[in-house]
Amino acid sequence: MQLSALVQKLQPSATIAAAALAKELKSTGVKVYEFTLGEPDFTTPEHICNAAKEAMDAGHTHYTAATGIVELKQAIADSYRTEYGVNYTPQQVTVSNGAKHSIHNVLTALCGPGDEVIIPTPYWVSYSALVELTGATPVLVPTTEESGFCLSGEQFAAAITPKTKLLMLNNPCNPTGAAYPVETLQEIARIAVEKDVPVLSDEIYEKLIYPGSEFRCFASFGEDVKQRTIIVSGVSKAYAMTGWRIGWTLAPQDVTAAMAKLQSQETSNPCSISQYAAIAALTGPQESVETMRQEFEKRREYVLGRLRAIPGVTFAEPGGAFYAFFNVSSYFGQTTPGGVTFHNSSEFCTALLNEAHVALVTGDAFGAPGYVRLSFATSMDILEAGLDRLENFLKSAT
Ligand code: PMP
Ligand code: GLU
Repeated sequence: MQLSALVQKLQPSATIAAAALAKELKSTGVKVYEFTLGEPDFTTPEHICNAAKEAMDAGHTHYTAATGIVELKQAIADSYRTEYGVNYTPQQVTVSNGAKHSIHNVLTALCGPGDEVIIPTPYWVSYSALVELTGATPVLVPTTEESGFCLSGEQFAAAITPKTKLLMLNNPCNPTGAAYPVETLQEIARIAVEKDVPVLSDEIYEKLIYPGSEFRCFASFGEDVKQRTIIVSGVSKAYAMTGWRIGWTLAPQDVTAAMAKLQSQETSNPCSISQYAAIAALTGPQESVETMRQEFEKRREYVLGRLRAIPGVTFAEPGGAFYAFFNVSSYFGQTTPGGVTFHNSSEFCTALLNEAHVALVTGDAFGAPGYVRLSFATSMDILEAGLDRLENFLKSAT
């Protein structure tokens, strides 16, 4: 069959593809050290699972309102009020099938052919793909390791044209872990208001912040900023709930109404049982969030220590999320013991997987040639063994 032009251009998600490759190798009986997917290795806290079981027992197994049940939307609105001091009504909340779906909704509601969407690079793989699916053009603005991979106000202002529809900001950032300094966010917010550019603020890693960094919700910089902000977040990362598929947006009423229309035609509603689980996540005990964060913090320290000890590897310290994003380009042109010469990050990742059985994601997928991403959302044992193997692989290349 003749596929649509848009889909023919679409690449599969590189993070999911990298994980699939690792699994394929694993299925042949090889022990693979897997650092691809950004997915907490913890099980979903028990009280959240219990709430889902109770929801099933209570018969909450039918369609819900398209944008989610009002109790969940209220719980989401309440959490932003208490945690960040920003006031949204439940009517401004749209619950979707994961934050990825939320992003797709926002882009479909706002963007189309002829529009430009500013995306600081390195960016999460799906950003540019989802922009292109609307027919709009991603405008990639490179940030550097030296700037901690943060977009500056100056860079933002310089990228704005009459066609600019949106800025996509990801704080803390996947893949770099960059946690924006408050002053930089304020400057970006000031420019967004001055130039009247809406901002999609993807804050899904908001709860995974490490010492020395601070999280601020983008909508908290004032009413004029909030009017131009669409917050995206969800339960996947903070509550180890990737499989439950619950994400959300908080947005001005007109954007919310547009997304509600879309979602009612596309999916009817997010999973009813998962919605009840998400209420328990937001309103129940929060200790597990901090316990998991502390575990990620330990792993982060360990991983950064190991990377610092490898000659020629450079990185900006991640202030949030659970990724180490490091530059291996000083090794390009070298040859592995298996006789493979790698010239870029993608070739490097392929050789590393085939010869050392360590799975990383190439920086090429994030618009950052020369870099690779390691997700440390995995156990200490695997991190230790995987980093030994990575180090030996680099040592043995000549
Ligand atoms: N935004 C970012 C930056 C992410 O890393 C992810 C990871 N999956 C998502 C959004 C989507 O999360 P989910 O669809 O699992 O809620
Ligand atoms: N966001 C995660 C990652 O970057 C999960 C995979 C995906 O949705 O792309 O690995």
